[in-house]
Amino acid sequence: MSDSQQAPSLYAAREPVFPKRVYGRFRNLKWLIMAVTLGIYYLTPWIRWDRGAELPDQAVLIDLASRRFYFFWIEIWPYEFYFVGGLLIMAGLGLFLFTSALGRVWCGYTCPQTVWVDLFILVERWIEGDRNARLRLHRQKKIDFRKLRLRLTKWLVWLLISVATGGAWVFYFTDAPKLAVDLFTFNANVVAYTTILVMTAMTFIFGGFMREQVCNYMCPWPRIQAAMMDTDTLTVAYRHWRGEPRGKAKKGVVAEGQGDCIDCMACVNVCPAGIDIREGQQMECITCALCIDACDEIMDKIGKPRGLIGYMALKDETSETSGIAPVSPWKHIFRLRTMIYTGLWSLIGVGLMFMLFIRSDIDISVSPVRSPVYITMSDGSIRNAYDIRLRNKHGEAHSFAMVARSDVPMQLEVEGEDYGTVTVPADELRTIRVYLTVPDASSAANSKVTDVRIWITDEANGDRAHADTVFNGRD
Ligand code: SF4
Ligand code: SF4
Repeated sequence: MSDSQQAPSLYAAREPVFPKRVYGRFRNLKWLIMAVTLGIYYLTPWIRWDRGAELPDQAVLIDLASRRFYFFWIEIWPYEFYFVGGLLIMAGLGLFLFTSALGRVWCGYTCPQTVWVDLFILVERWIEGDRNARLRLHRQKKIDFRKLRLRLTKWLVWLLISVATGGAWVFYFTDAPKLAVDLFTFNANVVAYTTILVMTAMTFIFGGFMREQVCNYMCPWPRIQAAMMDTDTLTVAYRHWRGEPRGKAKKGVVAEGQGDCIDCMACVNVCPAGIDIREGQQMECITCALCIDACDEIMDKIGKPRGLIGYMALKDETSETSGIAPVSPWKHIFRLRTMIYTGLWSLIGVGLMFMLFIRSDIDISVSPVRSPVYITMSDGSIRNAYDIRLRNKHGEAHSFAMVARSDVPMQLEVEGEDYGTVTVPADELRTIRVYLTVPDASSAANSKVTDVRIWITDEANGDRAHADTVFNGRD
């Protein structure tokens, strides 16, 4: 096959994106969200929370060794994983809610990839200059001292941010101040160093070099978001009916018969996805609204009303094009679909809160020993054995008095204890063997099963909990 007959290449090299600095209300909102989210991420492991002498004092801690999740005053045990499940469902519903109301608002403002890319671009701009300077540096083939100095400085700052990001991650899994000392004195576990290394590499590569490619090629969300959106969803759009036919303004004046778009490319130059919103809705658009700020600034300069690019529902586009006034944005946000999502979200939230408040700090579960089901003692009495698990969620050891309640009297003995009192260390689950015995003549001895309720009473504060089981007779 000759050169001229060869099929065109299906591969297009990536065009690096160098977003220009922009000023405006959405940019300010993004700065604020960036400061808050990064602040939460980096500082949370350092917040202390007193839970008593025997429990960790880190406010947010995923304690894998003890299989506990601590969140301020809340402590989640492994058997309470439904709380985490509930929170995940709430997070999913929250994403559905915000996407159906405001499109990819999560991607544009709060997704970690967006936040870190924004931070890395900020650093890049500080060191290498705004868009044009960065473009010049990128196109400069010769690597002179200046280019080398700027590149190395930028990569060094990126690397420091990446290490801090990886470091902050491991602090969520163990006591942060102690781990920090261990890390710097090379006494930390190899898992900690490996995790930091992996997280550092991911932050450095994803935030510094891959940027919008992570959103376009690695993240599944852009592909499934369409299912969450409808004609009422508010998303960033270009008012083509107002902007077209576009054309250059002469000395800041738009010619007669020309649309409001002066083809200045400001909206394209600030876009972190490197797209032109005037070409319509695109999968790459993360709805960050920076093009709105850029275009509003231009409209102010040429004396045209703001909003050539703005948040708009597809429905409004149709009505605006036909000259009908658009409905209030609130009507798009508060509609049946978003109400249903909000209702479900609130229902699960209230349910979790309710479960959280009614759960007890002590807990008991009983498993009857099945082999043998019962034994006959030398005096003819019948004895059943049970494995009882006592859970003490307090920050100090508590003693529990244990009694058995049934229609017939039963004698309760705790293996290894003289009395029916058991001490459970702070924040622990203790398993004990308990025996219930009835005399030969007792109806329980001669029945197949007799219902029994085992009560525990916390001797420190009188809190009670119980578990039901059965006594197996010889019948
Ligand atoms: S087109 Fe506008 S809203 Fe979409 S990613 Fe680019 S700047 Fe952000
Ligand atoms: S910023 Fe506004 S005026 Fe400039 S090209 Fe974009 S849409 Fe047109």
